[in-house]
Amino acid sequence: MNIFEDSLKVLEKAAKKLKLKKEKYFQLLQPQKIIEINFPFKNKLIYGYRVQYNNKLGPYKGGLRYHPQVDLDEVKSLAFWMMIKNSLAGVPYGGGKGGLQIDPKNLTNKEIKEITEKFIELIYQDIEPKFDVPAPDVGTDDQIMKIIAKKYQELTKDKTKAVVTGKPINFGGSRGREQATGLGGFYILENYLKHFKIKNSKNLEIVIQGFGNVGSYFAKFASENGFKVVAVSDSSGAIYEKKGLNIKKLIQIKNQKGEVAKYANFIKSSKKINPNNLLYLKCDILIPAALEKQITIENYQKIRAKYILELANGPLTAEADEKFAKFKNKVIPDVLSNSGGVIVSYFEWLQNLKKQKWSEKKVFSELKKYLSKSSEQVFNIANQYNCDLRTAAYIVALKKLI
Ligand code: NAD
Repeated sequence: MNIFEDSLKVLEKAAKKLKLKKEKYFQLLQPQKIIEINFPFKNKLIYGYRVQYNNKLGPYKGGLRYHPQVDLDEVKSLAFWMMIKNSLAGVPYGGGKGGLQIDPKNLTNKEIKEITEKFIELIYQDIEPKFDVPAPDVGTDDQIMKIIAKKYQELTKDKTKAVVTGKPINFGGSRGREQATGLGGFYILENYLKHFKIKNSKNLEIVIQGFGNVGSYFAKFASENGFKVVAVSDSSGAIYEKKGLNIKKLIQIKNQKGEVAKYANFIKSSKKINPNNLLYLKCDILIPAALEKQITIENYQKIRAKYILELANGPLTAEADEKFAKFKNKVIPDVLSNSGGVIVSYFEWLQNLKKQKWSEKKVFSELKKYLSKSSEQVFNIANQYNCDLRTAAYIVALKKLI
């Protein structure tokens, strides 16, 4: 089964719980519009996509991914999840997503700029602040968003910067956007621990797969609040320390040396571990914060974590998720846990349109309010419908989308 068909399964499950007839929601089973492009670069064709999934609740909204494995099914799934996430978060957006099938690690900044500008030349008429608003995702960042906004301004002669979010702060970006997904994940974890009355939370052992934007900011806020992160991985290795990693030091080392495993060269009480086994460590909270499909029907039985907080999009396949669903509250779903990013993207867009600049304090406190509301809704619906948290999150979202 492909990833897109897989991702629709939860929607069907939520619709069943709501006793909805298919004619009420069948339009949510396909994107409204798919834009497929290609262009030559250095004697090769580059393939790209923008999927505009649904705009019932507002402009299409979702990131742009630069990764060698980007394909249409993946982008459709990511756009679908954005539709659910935005609805659940209570921001006035529909769902969209895009991507280019390239490996930014093998490209210079100049090449990335050239490629991005070519991409925008092909899709600028399909994006617009009140119609479709891209943002960063895996492999893209604030500098790429700036390139897009500038190219858009040049092509349309429109001076707006609200056509993308996740821009640098000195170029219309919002304070707090960079931290938002990791911090939002941390707020969700706090809400979860409080709601389910999980005691001694500070002694819980946390393991994180992926130490990019989302994983590293989550780790930062968790450790600053006294939580113990015992293991972390990135695409080149993994590191473990029973008494808890010094996250400030780890971020410094990752920034300087590029690999989390280099931590072991500086902190002798820690050890390098095989990154392939990180998911299977015995711990309280496992946090997949890298890519999709990490926990599947083949490996789900090896998971020994008590709870899973999904910060990546789609880290569990539907089959693996089904196995965990019977424990009701074991998995805190991506559409809730990683929604902090798009919520602050919404704040950025609002600030651009209203010509305002919010303080970081205001951004964080507004973010907290949005996430308290959405998590409470999910916990209450799960209780009312006697279902797992993912199905509950989809029920909340679906009620607004039909
Ligand atoms: P990123 O590119 O900054 O970081 C990804 C990290 O994952 C890197 O540290 C990379 O080394 C690591 N990684 C890749 N493959 C790995 C593997 N097999 N094992 C261990 N580590 C691996 O990306 P990000 O922005 O942090 O996004 C991570 C996930 O969170 C993605 O699924 C993304 O869609 C999702 N997400 C991101 C945001 C956001 O605001 N950045 C918002 C919502 C969801």
